[in-house]
Amino acid sequence: MPFFSFPTRIAPAIQSLGIAPKISLSFLFTLGVATIGVTTGLILGERLERQALEQLTLATEQQLLLTQLEKAVLEVQDHPQRLLAVLGNSVWIQYERKRLEEDVKEVLALSDDLKGFASQTHLNIAADDDTFQTLAQDYRATAEAYERQMENVWETVNPAQVVRNSPDFQTARQEVFTLTTTGDTLRLVIQFERLAEQLLQVTRTADEQYQQAQVEFKQARNLRMQIIALSITVSIGVAIALAVFTSRAIARPLQNVTHIARQITQDSNFDRQIPQTDHAEIGQLTQSFNDLIHRVQTLLAEQAARAIELQQAKEAAEVANNAKSEFLANMNHELRTPLNGILGYAQILERDATLSGQQIQGVQIIQRCGTHLLTLISDVLDLAKIEARRVELYPEEVQLPNFLATTAEMCRIKAEQKGVQFIFEPAPNLPLVICADQKRLRQVLLNLLSNAVKFTQQGVVTFRVNLADPVNRENKTARIHFSIQDTGPGIPPEKIKSIFLPFEQVGHHSQKEQGTGLGLAITHQIIQLMGSAIEVESQVGRGSCFRFDLNVPVAEAAIALEEQPPKPPVVGYLGPRRSVLVVDDYIENRAVIRGILEPLGFTVIEARNGLEGLKQAMQSSPDLIITDMVMPELDGLEMTRRLRQDPQFAKTPIIACSASLSLPDRQRSFMVGCNRFVPKPVSIDQLLTALQDHLTLTWCYPESETGEDLPATLPGAMVLPALDYLQALHQAAEGGLVTKLRHLAQQLKLHSSTYVPFADRLLEMANTFDFEAITEWLEPYV
Ligand code: ADP
Repeated sequence: MPFFSFPTRIAPAIQSLGIAPKISLSFLFTLGVATIGVTTGLILGERLERQALEQLTLATEQQLLLTQLEKAVLEVQDHPQRLLAVLGNSVWIQYERKRLEEDVKEVLALSDDLKGFASQTHLNIAADDDTFQTLAQDYRATAEAYERQMENVWETVNPAQVVRNSPDFQTARQEVFTLTTTGDTLRLVIQFERLAEQLLQVTRTADEQYQQAQVEFKQARNLRMQIIALSITVSIGVAIALAVFTSRAIARPLQNVTHIARQITQDSNFDRQIPQTDHAEIGQLTQSFNDLIHRVQTLLAEQAARAIELQQAKEAAEVANNAKSEFLANMNHELRTPLNGILGYAQILERDATLSGQQIQGVQIIQRCGTHLLTLISDVLDLAKIEARRVELYPEEVQLPNFLATTAEMCRIKAEQKGVQFIFEPAPNLPLVICADQKRLRQVLLNLLSNAVKFTQQGVVTFRVNLADPVNRENKTARIHFSIQDTGPGIPPEKIKSIFLPFEQVGHHSQKEQGTGLGLAITHQIIQLMGSAIEVESQVGRGSCFRFDLNVPVAEAAIALEEQPPKPPVVGYLGPRRSVLVVDDYIENRAVIRGILEPLGFTVIEARNGLEGLKQAMQSSPDLIITDMVMPELDGLEMTRRLRQDPQFAKTPIIACSASLSLPDRQRSFMVGCNRFVPKPVSIDQLLTALQDHLTLTWCYPESETGEDLPATLPGAMVLPALDYLQALHQAAEGGLVTKLRHLAQQLKLHSSTYVPFADRLLEMANTFDFEAITEWLEPYV
């Protein structure tokens, strides 16, 4: 309900106004009310006050006039007294004569004034106009008569001729006295007294009038203040009422819109609409809001439809992705399995002393190509991993010269097939062993080298590796600089950045077909992961140069290895014959392991799946089990789990040997109870190290031509740590510091698996506190 209702025609007209005119109108109206109210109050108050003031002034004037008249009459009446006093003094007599005239004149003038005043104003409430006028006339007549009487006295006495102390002086005095106190003069004096009484009456009335005028004036003043205050209050009241009305008129529809809008957004109920109003802006606002709701409704509907599509697309993508991952995992497994046969036998054949030089070369080529193929398979997996942003680095010890030579060799073959010269320039001062993710580093180098070879049609590809800074002996790190330069077509400057983006290829169509456009993207990411960045310098028509620096730890073992001659192949082991159960569904894989282990004196028992594996384990109680993970009927994981539940096999070493290299698969194998993980294709060194660690074997090597034992290894083919480490251990043993010994031994084990046999032996002795034996044992090497 509005605060007060307007006439029916005005109210809708105001309602339909815009907010700004509404505010202006109400402002003007309020201002008008306030101005009119206050002005009226002021005028009214002023008028009342002025009237009261006029009355007061008149009363004051009237009072003054009466007082003056009274005084002048007294002066006139005093004349005989003064005349007697100055009689005999000619100067004063003249003066008194003049004074009488003036006093009479004054009385006459005041009488006239009083008469005029009475006819002009209507103040006299006590006496009516006539009385007032009569009094004035009487005063005038009496004053004139008195003057005439005095003239008679003067004519009769002639006081100007009277001389003081003369004989006539007393007579004259007597005569003046008698004339002014008797007869007509006395009658006039009495008349004056009578008039004075009347005047007193009138004066009293005038006094009362004056008092009353004063009271009225005060009242008028108060009334004026009250009128002004009232008019201000009324104006403010009206203004507030108007303001309230206006704000309601503006705010109510707005509040209405806001309230419904809030409800709509809170409940997400976009089916509601805001009722349309006839307010100008608010009507527009409502319309816009309703349009907005409609738009949101449409968008929500579209979004819902798109969400369904997206969900479907996501599900389809997930299915495709799972299928892709499954496919990649399967392909990886399927390709690695036959490769295990190829590479395994290539390794066995390589060790065959009866092969001719050409055959050995052939076997080496098989091995190299197999290894290359293996790398390619890994790359395919990598692509999937990189796409899923799941690339991790696994640093390990890398024999740098060997690693670089084999990498260069792979590309040399391709380059020479094309008739492109291939120059490999490793610096002579490179560290022998570094710590790096071998697979990733090879991947990077192979990509850059094979690109260089692929895009160069004639000329040279140069692969340089040198030290960017000298080896830091304190931190045991080296900064190695790699550069791959070619005389190929070069890359236009504007394309240099984009070649590192996935699927970016520049150049001729035939060359594009040879690659996927992912190589440099992977390379760039891997180098970034290694904490470095790749740089390119290229000139169209002249060639390109890709280079990067790597900060790598230099393995401590490198120093020990540098001092040791290469290890000869193991030919057997000391002690009783050990039996190994090989569980694998592929005969080739079982044959490879049999081919490696049987010549060394192991008894190899085979099983084709987990179930057979369990049976064979029960029958022959092997010293160690090597098992594949993915097999029909019962897989390696389940077989291991069941074996570990049997107390007989609780401690039997089990080595998981799988083509699946993913971290979760490795972790799963450890969780079910495997002691170690050896990847397929199997490396002889890795396999023998695992056997040595878990069966605590002492390997036998062929005797040297001189018949001497091989140096730098302890009995059992243990690799020794660096001299300072040996000295620290020796000192700890001498001091009987078992905790330090254990700590150093654990550190060695963590540092490299090659020290595990040495560290285990050390721990064994430390655990029995046999410090003397340790000191004796290390004595020759410190
Ligand atoms: P791919 O070689 O599989 O096409 P890359 O990611 O390895 O993919 O390379 C991306 C593109 O960069 C190549 O297609 C080629 O145009 C350009 N590029 C890479 N290396 C060279 C090079 N050495 N000389 C000229 N162009 C090169």
